[in-house]
Amino acid sequence: MTARIIDGFGFAADLRARVAAGAAAFAAAAGRVPGLAVVLVGEDPASQVYVRSKGKATHEAGMAGTEHRLPADTDQATLLALVHRLNADPAVDGILVQLPLPPQIDAQAVIAAIDPDKDVDGFHPVNVGRLGVGLPGFVPCTPLGCLLLLKAELTDLAGREAVVIGRSNIVGKPMAQLLLAESCTVTIAHSRTRDLPGVVRRADIVVAAVGRPEMVRGDWLRPGAIVIDVGINRVPAAEPGKTRLVGDVAFAEALPIAAAITPVPRGVGPMTIAVLLRNTLVSACRREGVPPPAGL
Ligand code: NAD
Repeated sequence: MTARIIDGFGFAADLRARVAAGAAAFAAAAGRVPGLAVVLVGEDPASQVYVRSKGKATHEAGMAGTEHRLPADTDQATLLALVHRLNADPAVDGILVQLPLPPQIDAQAVIAAIDPDKDVDGFHPVNVGRLGVGLPGFVPCTPLGCLLLLKAELTDLAGREAVVIGRSNIVGKPMAQLLLAESCTVTIAHSRTRDLPGVVRRADIVVAAVGRPEMVRGDWLRPGAIVIDVGINRVPAAEPGKTRLVGDVAFAEALPIAAAITPVPRGVGPMTIAVLLRNTLVSACRREGVPPPAGL
């Protein structure tokens, strides 16, 4: 058996095209385009790349993207004042404050200041709670992207054994909630889990979100498992001085054992921005009372 490679890149391109069509229909109905405001504090190089690609994707989807760049020494009050302005701006449907924030800023306080109905990242405690009790809200983009890929692979997730490795607020915990809502039997593994290979071996579905290159070995996997690899790790390449990206799963070892697996790159990664655009469109539709496109 050779695992099917789950084409996250292609899936994300398709989702972005459907969001763009939805944004055009929204604009025709509401007389304005959906708006996403992205806030970046400081000059972290990775964050700058993310913010640039979010801005480009927003415009490509026919939405208004505004970038708010603040210096690294910005104080908390200034950042909170900007968040309050964006909360009150009727043209803004989604607010994203790029993490990490500099040490003088309390990130939780900033997240809590965002209007939960504009919190397209799904990090606000109100949206975390809505996900927990099954109310409509916003779900963090990366785990929702993983779920969309899984649902495209498996028509019914109910009753499957799912193991999520990693318990971060951004990926692991919301991923586990989403799988629970699909009636999977969910185990959350983390840095203190005993016998991780034994736990992973039980899984029909493995979601690895750790940040350790190729930690999950092929012989940890149950034959026929579906593997979603969230990890993005830069490691030295064979060519001296060059680097390459690998996931948290030893991809070549997993190929002959798993039924399907996301590659790194071009797996989960492209889904994050596509879901961010999707969440922004959904927010715009909710705020204007326009029905969102079916199937989003
Ligand atoms: P994090 O550092 O916040 O959390 C990592 C988790 O892994 C922790 O909960 C920890 O308990 C667990 N862990 C650490 N060592 C472990 C071990 N030896 N065994 C088992 N569990 C262990 O990271 P995160 O933000 O959740 O991100 C995880 C990975 O996913 C990173 O590689 C990150 O770059 C990637 N990521 C990708 C996307 C994307 O594709 N768009 C988005 C977010 C994160």
